[in-house]
Amino acid sequence: MTRVATASSTTRRTRAALTTQIYCRPTCPVKPAKSRNVVFFPTAAAAERAGFRPCLRCRPEAAPGTPAWRGAAATVSRALRLIERGFLDGGKRVEDLADTLGMTTRHLRRLFLRHAGASPNAVATTRRVQRAKALVDETALPMSAIAFAAGFASIRRFNAAFRAVYRRPPSAVRRARRRARTTGQTDSLQRQLWLM
Ligand SMILES: [Zn+2]
Repeated sequence: MTRVATASSTTRRTRAALTTQIYCRPTCPVKPAKSRNVVFFPTAAAAERAGFRPCLRCRPEAAPGTPAWRGAAATVSRALRLIERGFLDGGKRVEDLADTLGMTTRHLRRLFLRHAGASPNAVATTRRVQRAKALVDETALPMSAIAFAAGFASIRRFNAAFRAVYRRPPSAVRRARRRARTTGQTDSLQRQLWLM
C-alpha cells in the first residue's frame, strides 16, 4: 500500500477505500472497508484528483455542497418556479417539463425526490389544492369553476386531491366557513345593538 492516509478533521468528509479505489459518503449503506484500507478526503473533488471513482450506490459526487449538487438544486428551483406558474396545469406532463429542462424524466424525478422531497406531480397538486382552498374560502364561485381555475383537469381530481388534504369535500369546507362568517356577523350586529 503506497498511498498515505489523509485523515481529515472536517465532519463532512469523503471515505475512500484503497482496495476498491472507490470513494463514498460517510453515510453510505455499503459495508465499509477495513479501517486500515480506508482514507479520508475533505471533498469528493479531492478524492477524484487522487484517482478514486465515486460509489454508484451513495453517489458522493452529488453530495450537498458539490458542484453537481448545486447544479441539481438550481435545476429543481427552476422546475419549481415553472410548476408554480402552472406549467403542469394545462395538460402538460412531467415529460414535457423534463424536455424543457433538457433532461430525462427519470433524472428529473430523481432530482425532485432528493431536493424537493416530493415528485413534480405531487408539488403541482399541492399548489392546486392551496389555490383552490383560497377560492373556496374567499369567493362564491361554483366548485366546478374553482376546480378549473385552480388548475385541475377535472372536478373528480379536484375533489379527490382536496379530500386527501382536508379530509372533507370542498363543499363542506365552504359551508363551515359560511356558518362561521354568519355567526361572526350576528355577534358583531348584536354587539352594535347593545352599544346603541
Ligand atoms: Zn458508497
